[in-house]
Amino acid sequence: MIIDGIKIAQHYKEELRKQVDLLSVQHKRKPRLDVIIVGENPASMAYVKSKIKAADYCGIDGELIRLPSSVSQKELLRVVQSCNADAEVDGILVQLPLPSHIDEQSVITAIAHEKDVDGFHPYNVANLWLNCASIVPCTPLGIMALLESTGIALAGRHAVVVGRSNIVGKPMAKLLLDQHCTVTLAHSRTANLAEVCRQADILIVAVGRAHTITASMVKPGATVIDVGINRTAQGTLVGDVDFKSVLPVAGAITPVPGGVGPMTIAMLMRNTIECYKNRLK
Ligand code: NDP
Repeated sequence: MIIDGIKIAQHYKEELRKQVDLLSVQHKRKPRLDVIIVGENPASMAYVKSKIKAADYCGIDGELIRLPSSVSQKELLRVVQSCNADAEVDGILVQLPLPSHIDEQSVITAIAHEKDVDGFHPYNVANLWLNCASIVPCTPLGIMALLESTGIALAGRHAVVVGRSNIVGKPMAKLLLDQHCTVTLAHSRTANLAEVCRQADILIVAVGRAHTITASMVKPGATVIDVGINRTAQGTLVGDVDFKSVLPVAGAITPVPGGVGPMTIAMLMRNTIECYKNRLK
């Protein structure tokens, strides 16, 4: 089975649009997401464009704040503070990565936690690990929705997550643990990665290196979720999984593009609406 992220994301966005319609009438104001982008990185620009398009579709207002790559950390923090202080703004997203002269964690921490639509603020990270999260990082949340769509039972299954970043791997492991999976978190120092991956009923790969996972690393019938986005020399997008060779072995698999990416964006819309609703309280 190829898991169709575009179709599932579309279903979510339609539901969210209906919610926004209702909320906007009830509270006489639409949710608003402000997106801050620093510099002209083409990949970041493309992601931001997709996010704004999805917000438009869902009826979410917003502003795109573009800053030059030379912007100082102090100025960027000032812009974040002004979004924090603006009562009309429900969600703030600072597109990552930031130029190397800016400390990303300081910027993430400066965002008001109740407007942190990415779920990267230490307050939201702590709440996730304490089982009281309202805002969860978009990519792992989207992956949980993809897994749900397959109908496979998660409890008791062995899930292997390859990649231990703060934005994908670690929160992913926590969400799978919450669903009673036995979780292995693998990374670049994992000894015998192929053997570890072969034990997975559910294999989630977020490495950032094309074709890291080949057919011989996958247990027959496993569910394989490919988070990676890599551009080949020819300019095409590929994941971290060698899709062609793994497809006949896996029970279910996400394509790249058209798998995790659209779900990440749908969950960003979900988080923006959550922030709006939390702020009404
Ligand atoms: P990071 O670079 O922050 O983390 C990569 C992780 O992969 C690290 O934990 C690293 O291990 C591990 N790793 C690197 N090489 C290997 C290897 N050969 N074997 C095993 N593990 C390895 O990346 P992100 O988590 O931010 O992103 C991962 C990928 O997912 C990227 O391609 C990114 O573009 C994509 N992405 C896609 C999204 C989507 O919506 N589809 C959203 C977010 C990311 P170590 O910690 O030891 O260095």
